[in-house]
Amino acid sequence: MFTFKSSMTTIALLVSAALSPSVLADTSVIHAGELLVVAGEAPLKKQTLVITDGKISALKSGFVAASNFANDAQLIDLSSSFVMPGLMDMHVHLQGELGPNNDSEMVNMSDADTLMKSAYFAKKTLMAGFTTVRDLGSSAEQSYALRDGIKRGWVEGPTIVAAGSSVAVTGGHGDVDGMAPDLMELHTAKTVCDGPYDCRRATRRAIKFGADVIKITSTGGVLSDTDTGTGQQMADDEIKEVVDTAHSLGRKVASHAHAAAGINAALRAGVDSIEHGSYANEESIKLFKKGGAYLVPTLMAGDTVVNLAKTTNFMSPEIKAKAIRVGGDMIENFKRSYKADVKIAYGTDSGVSKHGTNAREAELMFEAGMTPQDILVSATLHAADLIGKSKSLGTLEVGKVADIIATDASPLNDIKELLDVDFVMKSGKVVKQQ
Ligand SMILES: [Zn+2]
Repeated sequence: MFTFKSSMTTIALLVSAALSPSVLADTSVIHAGELLVVAGEAPLKKQTLVITDGKISALKSGFVAASNFANDAQLIDLSSSFVMPGLMDMHVHLQGELGPNNDSEMVNMSDADTLMKSAYFAKKTLMAGFTTVRDLGSSAEQSYALRDGIKRGWVEGPTIVAAGSSVAVTGGHGDVDGMAPDLMELHTAKTVCDGPYDCRRATRRAIKFGADVIKITSTGGVLSDTDTGTGQQMADDEIKEVVDTAHSLGRKVASHAHAAAGINAALRAGVDSIEHGSYANEESIKLFKKGGAYLVPTLMAGDTVVNLAKTTNFMSPEIKAKAIRVGGDMIENFKRSYKADVKIAYGTDSGVSKHGTNAREAELMFEAGMTPQDILVSATLHAADLIGKSKSLGTLEVGKVADIIATDASPLNDIKELLDVDFVMKSGKVVKQQ
């Protein structure tokens, strides 16, 4: 017989069932042959990793049955794989890839085309095992749209920390060059600035429109046609003003820098990372250690431009010569900074190199003498620290976001394993499984 009391009991049961984690939660259970919870520590054999609603909820030794955690828990069998935190690349440009058609693409492709292309590159990056990237210098609006689209689950890609367009000085690296004047006018970013007050405006503007991080270009670049080559281009007072403004608004600053003067000016101003750092000298090493900034070596960029300079004809003779010189010097200087214990965060400059080949950087770092353990630290713990996300990313400890990858064997024994990532989970969702 239906009574008020029993119907209330039924409703109470239904409500509690609906609210209980085992019904609401989305649980998966990974059996990991080897598990690297924290890079830098020893991997553990035969572990069970439990993921609930996108986060790591438990870690047990041995292979524990999935049904122990939830009735509908999905078992992911990686019992003969090496499982580790998703890789993080601190320097990419998702909107393009260096090649002979770059100039014509600027004329032929709409902003919508560029956005679609960047979504394609983002997916390639994720499939390569890179679950977080910093996009350091792209057309701002499309870069933020891609970041937000991925966050909303509309397209698959890594978590993006986006800089939008660089804060760069007129005529310097980061500004446009080599085009007809009216086209240059059209393509000049609103974050190009001159003098400290104007650069303060540019920094605030970048943040207003969506920048998570500020990218500056304190020196010339390899691929821009300017007479200063790789020398300092932003003045000390401009760099200082950008850094102070960004920090006061809660944003970190990444400075592209090749020549020592530009590296040191940026470090003295308090930037959070130096990108490339090709000609870091003894003074730079002291400044790195004093301020705690990271070096993002981008050895792949050097490697790629040297190859392109030698095998293709689309660069000007001046750029070719510069590419061959800087590419070679980068490795030697990286070795010195690594030996001196400068903190290193993994970054490739993909967009110069091909998207989805981001793990090649690990191979180059290894060839330059970095240990596999330090390489994995640079691509997980250090990267997470550099973007201020150590609480949620970079390890597989309980409570962290479930960004997880797996390889056949341990990259600690053979770094080349990173070139062939077989399994990728992003925020608890399997996006690649071979
Ligand atoms: Zn770059």
